[in-house]
Amino acid sequence: MTKVKITIDGHDLEVEQGTNLIEAARQLGKTIPHYCYHPGLPPDGNCRMCLVQVEKMPKPVIGCRTGATEGMVVHTQSDEVKKMRQSIMEFLLINHPLDCPTCDQAGECRLQDYYMDYDRIPSRYQEQKVHKDKMVDLGAGVMLDEERCIVCTRCVRVCQEVAKSEELFVQERGNHSMVATFPGKKMTNPYAGNTVDVCPVGALTSKDFRYKKRVWFLSAADSVCQGCSRGCNISVHHADNRVYRLKPRHNPEVNDYWMCDYGRIDYKFVNDGRRLKPHFKTDAGLQEDSYQNAFAHLQSVLQNYSADQITGIASAQESNEEINAFVDFIKSNFGSLPIYFSKNNPENPYEDDILIKADKNPNSAHIASKNLKPVSEISGGVKAVFVQRNLSAQDAQVLKDKGIQIVALFATNETNLDNLAEVILPIPTFAEQNGHFTNFEGKVQGFTKALKPRGESRLFAEHAEDIKALLSSIKKAS
Ligand code: SF4
Ligand code: SF4
Repeated sequence: MTKVKITIDGHDLEVEQGTNLIEAARQLGKTIPHYCYHPGLPPDGNCRMCLVQVEKMPKPVIGCRTGATEGMVVHTQSDEVKKMRQSIMEFLLINHPLDCPTCDQAGECRLQDYYMDYDRIPSRYQEQKVHKDKMVDLGAGVMLDEERCIVCTRCVRVCQEVAKSEELFVQERGNHSMVATFPGKKMTNPYAGNTVDVCPVGALTSKDFRYKKRVWFLSAADSVCQGCSRGCNISVHHADNRVYRLKPRHNPEVNDYWMCDYGRIDYKFVNDGRRLKPHFKTDAGLQEDSYQNAFAHLQSVLQNYSADQITGIASAQESNEEINAFVDFIKSNFGSLPIYFSKNNPENPYEDDILIKADKNPNSAHIASKNLKPVSEISGGVKAVFVQRNLSAQDAQVLKDKGIQIVALFATNETNLDNLAEVILPIPTFAEQNGHFTNFEGKVQGFTKALKPRGESRLFAEHAEDIKALLSSIKKAS
């Protein structure tokens, strides 16, 4: 690529020829304000907010569609540029309802931000504003407030470019223009949530999130989606030790700016009020109790087996660290039998050639690196197993058919194994721990703790210490 030298507001820099001026300015840490431009979408140039002056050009130009050429001298802060921005803001706000107090975008709205940065004048508009529908269900969990839309077309382009769908378009003309689906149709594409992310104003909101929390109360933790083996980079937005929403985090090598809608709502289990506490099996059924009593029960169950009859089943849903801790624990305390693995294995899993993978496990690659065997190959010598996280329905059936007992299940939530396990010990979800997943391409990606572990969950390594103590007391007694 040819490099060119340009000057922006008196600062010299070298950029690739053709770099648009918004991105060139970004390299200097400067923001040229914009609504319709998004770095992950083709530029449209409709909002005019990024107008700048370029020396030797007869008229102001839009930064999003003007490429850098050798010797270009750009002004983004001149009085004329500031006046243009103010005029664009005034124009955009003519019909805007100014219902910020009840708008979910308040606090992360570019109309609010740019009004404060570039406008700050009272409206001169005396006429009646154009009123439109304020609650249009576009489908796929996306609500449209037509009055708030500034017709930037980011949402239309995100459908076209990311989801490869033509479900959205702009209808009508002038100040009656609005985004819509075709008559009788709704959005159904599995990337529709990205339209809410890219909407720079409060026109598109997520049904899942709207009215749940003002955004300024949310904190964000860098994380990785655990919905499939892609491992999209995400931010976990949380407050009050609850997850409120997941948002995509830019990573050009994995998910660019996007995520799918399955992954986007794959956090509800974290907030589940019934998150597990220690349980063990009694004649009256599964009983919630203290760790002390659960371990006492585990001790009595383990006494029925010799070490060479016990092994473990690791989970492709867990982090590299938790899988390693589990496998090491089984190897060092039992170890004569092979160790097995289980995966979330739904029937007919959806996949596409955009992001979504058929493998609905975040960590199949790490499991593959551990040389474990699938549960379908479990041998007759196995009488009892420790199980990490959960088993697929098929794997659970294998254990039932072979009469293999689950001595302890380490689970985040209630599972279909609850009545098969002698003891259930709670472990934290991805949102409650630091760790890594290895995605289908072998990329090891870190995720960080957003919440304090809910319920009484503990990392596997902490459980392992107590179980080791338990095993040594069994050895001493025998
Ligand atoms: S709904 Fe939002 S993203 Fe779509 S055109 Fe309107 S302002 Fe732009
Ligand atoms: S494509 Fe996979 S990893 Fe990405 S958001 Fe969807 S479920 Fe999560």
